[in-house]
Amino acid sequence: MAEYKVPLKDMSFLLHEVFKADEMWQQLPLLAEQVDKETAQAILQECAKIAEQELDPIARRGDEVGVSFNDGVVTTAPGYKEAFNTYVEGGWTGLGGDVNYGGMGMPKMLTAMHEEMLCSADISFALYPVLTAGAALSLAKHGSEELKQRYLTRMYSGEWSASMCLTEAHSGSDLGIIRTKAVPQDDGSYSITGNKIFITGGEHDLTENIVHLVLAKLPDAPAGPRGISLFLVPKFNVNEDETLGERNQVSCGSIEHKMGIHASATCVMNFDGAQGYLIGEINKGLACMFTMMNFERIGVGIQGLGAAVRSYQNALEYAKDRLQGRALTGAKSPDQAADSIMVHGDVRRMLLNMKALNEGSRALSSYIAMQLDYATFAEGEVQAKGEALAALMTPVAKAFFTDLGFENTVTGQQVFGGHGFIREWGQEQLVRDARITQIYEGTNGIQAMDLLMRKVAGSKGNLLKVFTEEVSTYIDEHKSNDALAEFITPLSQALADLNELTEDLLTKSEGNMNELGASANDYLHVFGYTAMAYIWVKMAQVSQAGLENNGESGREFYQSKLHTARYYFTRLLPRRISLIASAKSGSDCMFDIDDELF
Ligand SMILES: Cc1cc2nc3c(=O)[nH]c(=O)nc-3n(C[C@H](O)[C@H](O)[C@H](O)COP(=O)(O)OP(=O)(O)OC[C@H]3O[C@@H](n4cnc5c(N)ncnc54)[C@H](O)[C@@H]3O)c2cc1C
Repeated sequence: MAEYKVPLKDMSFLLHEVFKADEMWQQLPLLAEQVDKETAQAILQECAKIAEQELDPIARRGDEVGVSFNDGVVTTAPGYKEAFNTYVEGGWTGLGGDVNYGGMGMPKMLTAMHEEMLCSADISFALYPVLTAGAALSLAKHGSEELKQRYLTRMYSGEWSASMCLTEAHSGSDLGIIRTKAVPQDDGSYSITGNKIFITGGEHDLTENIVHLVLAKLPDAPAGPRGISLFLVPKFNVNEDETLGERNQVSCGSIEHKMGIHASATCVMNFDGAQGYLIGEINKGLACMFTMMNFERIGVGIQGLGAAVRSYQNALEYAKDRLQGRALTGAKSPDQAADSIMVHGDVRRMLLNMKALNEGSRALSSYIAMQLDYATFAEGEVQAKGEALAALMTPVAKAFFTDLGFENTVTGQQVFGGHGFIREWGQEQLVRDARITQIYEGTNGIQAMDLLMRKVAGSKGNLLKVFTEEVSTYIDEHKSNDALAEFITPLSQALADLNELTEDLLTKSEGNMNELGASANDYLHVFGYTAMAYIWVKMAQVSQAGLENNGESGREFYQSKLHTARYYFTRLLPRRISLIASAKSGSDCMFDIDDELF
């Protein structure tokens, strides 16, 4: 497999030229103290070294050896412990953490890029620290001061890791029916009993303690999602003097044998009267968990992107070297037995699909991360707008990036021909590793329902309007720029079509709610391609200006961006047209057929 090279130039372009992150950071007092352009560059460069030099080399072995289980003890693959220690020593576990508890307080725009690097190098490794960072976010927001002092500091320091325990054998997408019980104890703690399955990082040998965030129900809790509470359950109890105490009554019953991410421990966790501590309010656990899940959902989207970036880098290197056939317009390398496969239109299509969708996903993920930063660090209207856009776009980030991510790992595999199917080149591992991203953290079907039912219909279109008005304003500001017309015109059309589709579906759903369920997946992708078009115009605009003003990324970079933008608009944005036709076709064709006739 080609050695992974972090796309630092593209990341800097987005941060400093497209989104002018430094200006934003300096306007937000809490961020201005922590970060500026130089600090951000230093962080990206140092993180790139970890990803390229420490994580990339262990990914293949991790896939081959995997995680092992022996009588409740889970052992990670060779090299993982050493790599994790190096990662912890570098201070990376507290990168986005609350500064009051030992975190570094870095903005999501930076931590998102950090996550992409980890995931391109090795999704399995990334899951251990990324899940811990998500759990820390939930604890920082909803936990008591005592819990934060005791646990959060050690999670940021990397001494302890965390897991997220939601799923039970009978309860996945529908968390309202979980059975795990929490019984109040005299000392204010809770006794937690139940079984959780599929728990990532539920047990392993990387850290001395594991902090489980567990969803459970009190005995008198209301039925459904309104009766769920959130508890912190440590693997080892913690003494008053902060030393580790007795082992809590939580254990790993087995690990799963999976299609991919073999080096990530996916555990069955048994809670047998384990001591737990309430996080947030009783019966409000799902809302607390959503702080973590929203963070994780964007993170999972970035996992898809990470695998896709690796796929593109591999495939590009292979395509340049592989000699097969001749260019249709005549031999390009007559002195060789055959031309490189780069001469073939279909190979160029595959490479450009990956390039345009990856760069578009990275840009859109930076835009969403920026909204999360406004939501966290700004005030007043700016904060409210950031919250609205982050809420609207979280399901899009999760589902759109992972669907494209999987598509791009398969496309990269296709560039290799038969050599992509065998293990030697590493492509088939990327396909297997990326596949789970479409499933966990709420399947992409659930994300589509979240977007259309909860966010769009649930707000009577108001959340969507926050986004469409921003795009409309941008179009108005730039429609007299002739140089941008090739992008602005199709963006205007895409926006008008998205508005019209939304109206159509909301109207139809008044008579039949199945209309939303039947079209949600198509709708999410129409939204995704339109949002990506908006971000591609911004990149094109900055690149045109960069060419005129000798911008910092350089001529070749800007030319490549403009070419790729053109490719996106001519070859990829039109995908939305068939999706719109499908979404508008209604639900009858799905529901008119009796179950027996399937
Ligand atoms: C490797 C791995 C790691 C995981 N890590 C964790 C973890 O750390 N913590 C954790 O708690 N869980 C974890 N999970 C569980 C994961 O989040 C669930 O598998 C996922 O949410 C789907 O739940 P399910 O498997 O029960 O599928 P189901 O909920 O049974 O869904 C089956 C199908 O029905 C569809 N469906 C269900 N309900 C609806 C609906 N209302 N509308 C439309 N479609 C619907 C789904 O989209 C899916 O296609 C992990 C799973 C795996 C495989």
